[in-house]
Amino acid sequence: MEIKANEISALIKEQIKNYEHEIDTKDVGTVVTVGDGIALIYGLDKAMLGELLVFPSDVYGMVMNLEPDHVGAVILGDDHAIKEGDVVRRTNRVMEVGVGDHFLGRVVNALGQPIDGLGPISYEKTRPIEVIAPGIIERKGVNTPLQTGITAIDAITPIGRGQRELIIGDRQTGKTAIAIDAIINQKDQNVYCIYVAIGQKNSTVAQIVDKLRQHGALDYTIVVSASASEPAPLLYIAPYAGCAMAEEWLHQGKDVLIVYDDLSKHAVSYRALSLLLKRSPGREAYPGDVFYLHSRLLERACKLSDEFGGGSITALPIVETQSGDISAYIPTNVISITDGQIFLMTDLFNAGQRPAIDSGLSVSRVGGSAQFKAMKQVAASIKIDLASFQEMKSFAQFGSDLDSSTAKIIRHGETLLRILRQDQYHPYPFEKEVFELFAAKHSLLDSYPLNDVKNILHEAYEFVSASHQHVLLAIKREHEITPEIEKELLQLFQQFLSIYNQQKNN
Ligand code: ATP
Ligand code: MG
Repeated sequence: MEIKANEISALIKEQIKNYEHEIDTKDVGTVVTVGDGIALIYGLDKAMLGELLVFPSDVYGMVMNLEPDHVGAVILGDDHAIKEGDVVRRTNRVMEVGVGDHFLGRVVNALGQPIDGLGPISYEKTRPIEVIAPGIIERKGVNTPLQTGITAIDAITPIGRGQRELIIGDRQTGKTAIAIDAIINQKDQNVYCIYVAIGQKNSTVAQIVDKLRQHGALDYTIVVSASASEPAPLLYIAPYAGCAMAEEWLHQGKDVLIVYDDLSKHAVSYRALSLLLKRSPGREAYPGDVFYLHSRLLERACKLSDEFGGGSITALPIVETQSGDISAYIPTNVISITDGQIFLMTDLFNAGQRPAIDSGLSVSRVGGSAQFKAMKQVAASIKIDLASFQEMKSFAQFGSDLDSSTAKIIRHGETLLRILRQDQYHPYPFEKEVFELFAAKHSLLDSYPLNDVKNILHEAYEFVSASHQHVLLAIKREHEITPEIEKELLQLFQQFLSIYNQQKNN
């Protein structure tokens, strides 16, 4: 990577010699050094930051560093064919990707090229991968919920369309599972989805694509994948490329959900690039602008005001922590950029509480304003109930007798946690979430064995949807539990529970 002084001077001499009759030289440069996916190029005086460059044999590069005497570029592809002295040309274009509906159902790389073996993708339009996020005037507050279909999230940390909610947790705590379930739940909701896989194994991505296809979710989803085996520059641009695809729909007034899985690996690839470009390292060896790396990406998620079409991009970035340390550099950065976080705990996960959401550390700062009334009605007390449960539970560990009110709080908390358990790939419709939380709110199941709770709820739901579906339809339609519905639901529950108790006793 050393730039040899004599080489540069030779180049300079050459340049001066040709100066008089080579007016075009500003658009053509020469490779000084190349290696590790980075090329230093002499010339290209007018190159722009982020501009695409063409190397021989059609390899592309992107300008990352503008130095007084050279340009640093990352090579998007194989750098083996590139040699010192090769001619590099400007394209006068910043990096762009193809966008549009033709990409739906496809798996593409960070450059928008198909990698699913289903043939080329035709598109009429491209968009720059880096744009400035919409300003304040163009935006408005979130007002429509984005139902994830995961009861615990829709109740405790509700997400609004246009919000950025971080999913954070250690390895193997179900982070991806939440994002995928959220995508699956967007079926028939008029939400386009984009799943950006950054630095994951190809086999993992293939499994995810398979699952999306099985659940009919691929029809409204694009998967953008820059796998672990690809060069760092592709990992670096993947989320921006995904975001550009989302923006196409945003400006058509549509709603988009985009998942970045995950930004820790994105930051690591950017750190690798920055170090190779000889930018000075800072905390944890990340370059100083690593905050800007994610802030400019996540700022592009927004809810546009009606004059601008009213579209939205909801972003679910994922960040991996090391042994639950949310105060590391990248986690704190992304936490401060997003509108809230869903924190997943290894302990809860291993104890069988899945999704393993820690209700104390998880928060949604804006989603509450977009929550439907019915959900607010049943979910209002959950967080407090869980908090007092956690507190009492630590007391209870000392053994000894518990007074009845403490025992009741603990029992209610345990039941509540059971109700919030949910299998992967089983997002619930809104009315089912409300139905289950209704049982929690009225402590209807607190006296049943914990292991039966989910089962009873399931049967009760079947019972109501078979015989009294209008109640569920009313919740779905009105998004509210009117006093009549409340009364009827309570009656139905009692009716079901008495049948259930009878069956149990026989
Ligand atoms: P990684 O750090 O490797 O990316 P992750 O945090 O994304 O992991 P997942 O891959 O989503 O975690 O999930 C880890 C494992 O837990 C998977 O085998 C998945 O099937 C399982 N799992 C996740 N959520 C649930 C759930 N709600 N119920 C049952 N199993 C689950
Ligand atoms: Mg994952």
